[in-house]
Amino acid sequence: MEITFGQYFPYKQHQACLPAGLAAGVEDKRHKAVVAGGGPCGLALALGLANHGIPVTVLEADATVCTGSRAGAFTRRTLEILEQLGVIDAVLPTGLTWSVGRTYLGDREVFSFTMPDDAGQKYPPALSHLQNYIEQCLVERAEAMPKLVDIRWQSQVAQVEHNADGARIEVQTPQGAYALDTDWLVACDGGRSTVRQRLGLAMQGQRHEGRYLIIDIRIDTSGLPAGRRCWFDPPSKPGGTLLLYKKPSGMLRFDYQLNDDDDEVEACKPEVVFKQVDAHLKMLGIERPWEPVWMSLYRASALTLERYRHGRVLFAGDAAHLVPIFGVRGMNSAIEDAHNLAWKLAYAIKGMGGEGLLDSYSAERVYAARENLRYASKSAEFMAPPSRPARLMRDAVLSLAEKHPQFASLINPRQHAAIPLVDSPLNHRGEQDARFGAGPAAGEILRECPLQYRGAAGHLTDLIGAHFTALYFSELGDTPAPLAHALAQAASRAPLVARSIARQPPAAGADFAYDHTGRLFPLYGAQPGTLYLVRPDGHVLARWLDAAADEVLPALVACLS
Ligand SMILES: Cc1cc2nc3c(=O)[nH]c(=O)nc-3n(C[C@H](O)[C@H](O)[C@H](O)COP(=O)(O)OP(=O)(O)OC[C@H]3O[C@@H](n4cnc5c(N)ncnc54)[C@H](O)[C@@H]3O)c2cc1C
Repeated sequence: MEITFGQYFPYKQHQACLPAGLAAGVEDKRHKAVVAGGGPCGLALALGLANHGIPVTVLEADATVCTGSRAGAFTRRTLEILEQLGVIDAVLPTGLTWSVGRTYLGDREVFSFTMPDDAGQKYPPALSHLQNYIEQCLVERAEAMPKLVDIRWQSQVAQVEHNADGARIEVQTPQGAYALDTDWLVACDGGRSTVRQRLGLAMQGQRHEGRYLIIDIRIDTSGLPAGRRCWFDPPSKPGGTLLLYKKPSGMLRFDYQLNDDDDEVEACKPEVVFKQVDAHLKMLGIERPWEPVWMSLYRASALTLERYRHGRVLFAGDAAHLVPIFGVRGMNSAIEDAHNLAWKLAYAIKGMGGEGLLDSYSAERVYAARENLRYASKSAEFMAPPSRPARLMRDAVLSLAEKHPQFASLINPRQHAAIPLVDSPLNHRGEQDARFGAGPAAGEILRECPLQYRGAAGHLTDLIGAHFTALYFSELGDTPAPLAHALAQAASRAPLVARSIARQPPAAGADFAYDHTGRLFPLYGAQPGTLYLVRPDGHVLARWLDAAADEVLPALVACLS
């Protein structure tokens, strides 16, 4: 059930067109990579591949970006990835930043959480925005690279024939059907994935109790706090739960649970829903005119495929897993999938990466999905307890939390954060790893820290790009000749940029970074001589307290095999 009351977003309509070079209904060009689905995951993957110079075709069934209210809260990790994809400057200034979430029992606050933040961060811990807007930014970025990204709108994947060399895809458009051949197909075609169905695959997991009504309204939001606010048993909805988010473009999103005995048809009637909105606004003392924009009924699912690689077909985003939305894991994890896959698939296409590298995509992202499902399911069960004893326990925790902070952690909705890939088959953990007293180990993402580079203040992640990065810590910025030679050797095997980070200020014009706040060395447990080898997606591959020049190339080769 979805009802649109007003214009949610200024959608741009995109025309369908048949490709040039059709012979007997088959495109004569063979594609290297095709992405089924131009949602956030498919678009992020296409831009990621383009960053590595790989041309990609996106087949999107619709004529516009997503319609209505979808994901609304984006993590710091997603913002870092959006920077790599070249859209952060359009996204960040137009969103609402927040870091605090509040939980109420009745009308009393019983718990609040603050997401990790400090002055050294480049991005806020969370940004409220519209999924439609972010998709639009990704589309515009793709349109600026027509030689690398070809988005074919109103082009629905209808059939998939998977073979040892790739796949033949039948595409339906309003102007007729055609077939194309590709070496690689990535299914980013959402929760009802056609590709998944055509390959005869099914997701495993559970569907949660609880039906949630989501309604976005347009209202003057000035002065209202940003961030997640959650009520249990509020005076406006006795016995129920209600979530409220402030969104950009003067909107509020209400997300409330239907009571177990509510008749769905009756409870979803607009006049019934509007009364609920009125009651909650009144409870908050907000007396402003409002109008509905969009509403929908939602049920939480916690499902995943067992594997995300099936020969030449890979799965990402909602096509691979469905996560309850509590804790903002849906779109954020879809973007992380795309970022993890882009460089691995690019390297496979360029002949630089082997089967193990591609398989690691599945291993790492299935692991991340299972972690996400575990956290999200806990949140979903707290919101809608599956049994009477579970509800009694939940209610007891809530009423004790106000006076006994030790119970408060049980309420924490565990907002999504990037999952450290601790057991990744790519991780290189030599004997030196255990000697670190601090810093991200292999599999973790880089920790942000201010850094000065070429005289300008910036951040550590400014040094990361679509390549491996070797971060060498030294007193004065010089790299010993054997290590410089080893890094040059490694760079001939795969794109690798070596960066030197000094503890002392550089001379004018020196080409190394400077730990000008003195925070980076301790944050990374580093000393002069320490080396971190970082993957193109910003996860640490290996680290050495005393860089051993002869270990760099083997670590890189093992990763690429
Ligand atoms: C009501 C609602 C509220 C949500 N709220 C949140 C939230 O607050 N936070 C959060 O993180 N997530 C939320 N989500 C989830 C989030 O929207 C998804 O996780 C996210 O969109 C996944 O991105 P995706 O690209 O994998 O899939 P999708 O966004 O579903 O994109 C799939 C794309 O594939 C296209 N497609 C489908 N079939 C075909 C085909 N056969 N051929 C070609 N193209 C095809 C579709 O048109 C679509 O553009 C919400 C979802 C819903 C429905």
